[in-house]
Amino acid sequence: MPVKNGNLYLEGLRAHPKDLWIEGEKVTDVTRHVAFTRAANSIAALYDMQHDPILAKEMTFNSNAGGVSEGLSFITPTSQEHLIQRGKMMLNWARFSGGVLARTPDYMNVILMACSAASDFFGKYGKNIENYFQYVMENDLTLTHTLVNVRKNKRYPSYAKGDELGLHLVQAKDDGIVVEGARILATLAPLSDEILVFPSSVVPTDKDASKYALAFGIPCDTPGLKFICREPLDVGKSSFDHPLSSRFDEGDAIVVFDNVFVPWEKVFIFNDVETANTVFSHSKVGSHINQQIVTKNMSKSEFILGLATLMTESLNTNETPYIQALASELITIYEVSKACLEASISNAELNEWGVMEPEGAPLAAAKSSFTSAYPRMIEILQLIGSSSLIAVPTDADFESDIGHYLDDYLSTDTLGAKERTKLFRMAWDISISSYGGRQVLYERFFSGDPHRTAALSFARYDKEKVKKIALQIIDRV
Ligand SMILES: Cc1cc2nc3c(=O)[nH]c(=O)nc-3n(C[C@H](O)[C@H](O)[C@H](O)COP(=O)(O)OP(=O)(O)OC[C@H]3O[C@@H](n4cnc5c(N)ncnc54)[C@H](O)[C@@H]3O)c2cc1C
Repeated sequence: MPVKNGNLYLEGLRAHPKDLWIEGEKVTDVTRHVAFTRAANSIAALYDMQHDPILAKEMTFNSNAGGVSEGLSFITPTSQEHLIQRGKMMLNWARFSGGVLARTPDYMNVILMACSAASDFFGKYGKNIENYFQYVMENDLTLTHTLVNVRKNKRYPSYAKGDELGLHLVQAKDDGIVVEGARILATLAPLSDEILVFPSSVVPTDKDASKYALAFGIPCDTPGLKFICREPLDVGKSSFDHPLSSRFDEGDAIVVFDNVFVPWEKVFIFNDVETANTVFSHSKVGSHINQQIVTKNMSKSEFILGLATLMTESLNTNETPYIQALASELITIYEVSKACLEASISNAELNEWGVMEPEGAPLAAAKSSFTSAYPRMIEILQLIGSSSLIAVPTDADFESDIGHYLDDYLSTDTLGAKERTKLFRMAWDISISSYGGRQVLYERFFSGDPHRTAALSFARYDKEKVKKIALQIIDRV
């Protein structure tokens, strides 16, 4: 099948309704439910970009499988040029929403690509991951994923004795396995076709823990699989009032596996603690996914920098040194993301799986710093905007009998009242609304606890060179 368009994507969601719940209601058609319809249309628009006469050549490539064009995020890069092309494609998708749609499908596509390229690492299940990657690519499917088990008590791992809440094996049969338990979150689940289930936290090597050492990929409408969504952030308001949440609420869901059957051909890791514990480092997924993440961060930074600039110009505070200093922090964050992306591609090398891999360190640095930079960016918008982020009437107010007061009193030297409100509604939605709050939480945690991730980065960083330099200086003085 050639690359998907928006209609095919929406039809796919309708043809395979999953067991999805929101606010106590079972959703029969996500494409028509108020909480999901506009976000579904946004994802559909991403797929339409693959058919756009101007953009198509930046969004697709011809795979080896008979010259059929595929989405560029599925490419197995073997050159720097491939990484540059993939980066452009990622940026096109990120810029569609100013980076607030974080789980554009490229996020998962590069994970699968890297795992498939490293299929030997998966031993006898290697062919399964290769086939699954081909299947997802050829059908241009949309994936969610879930890594983290639920836990009763955060001091203990989910596989602590007596706590069988985390996802685990119940039975191995001739034709597949049966699993049970729950995972804490899957972003984009309401709008996805398939779910990739991988291990995250380190599984201990005792015998009882091996039943947690699993990885597989299955359709979201697999019997027994249940998605319990958080409250909707798109509550059906106009796009003037809620410009981001009305279009880009990708959804997050708790995932319950109630005796879910997984056929053997969809199993990638089975009761294998060693493989589960090292799958991400060995498959070299990190740098590929970080290219997507840092591209999204760069897009988000340029969007917020632009927004802040427009705000200061409209309020005529852009000449104030304090405001300029705040805005310059936004420039730094944007430029650092951009520089790290460029460095990672300039220094890319072929890895042991024959895949051109962006250099990990600059991307890890950019990703790690964004977990604290993003909340600061939002704080800066609040400091710049102040009461202008609250004096933001709705579309209905402008259309009502008192609308003329707003026209009179809310204009600035450079903007009419409605134009000003439109700008500050955007700033409100990213910095003050529930949608904005979820964005901050997402950037802090979506890729794991930032403190433990930072500790891991330090442990893995090649420190020999800097130690040598320091010792040379110490010895010289
Ligand atoms: C909006 C959002 C979307 C997400 N989407 C996905 C998704 O699509 N797929 C997915 O798999 N996951 C997703 N996640 C989950 C994410 O992977 C986890 O939030 C992350 O791994 C952190 O785990 P946790 O939430 O259990 O926090 P915890 O591990 O409980 O950490 C919470 C805080 O407690 C501290 N802490 C915890 N334990 C200790 C300890 N032993 N010692 C010291 N400090 C400790 C941490 O430093 C942190 O500050 C998402 C999370 C969010 C917020």
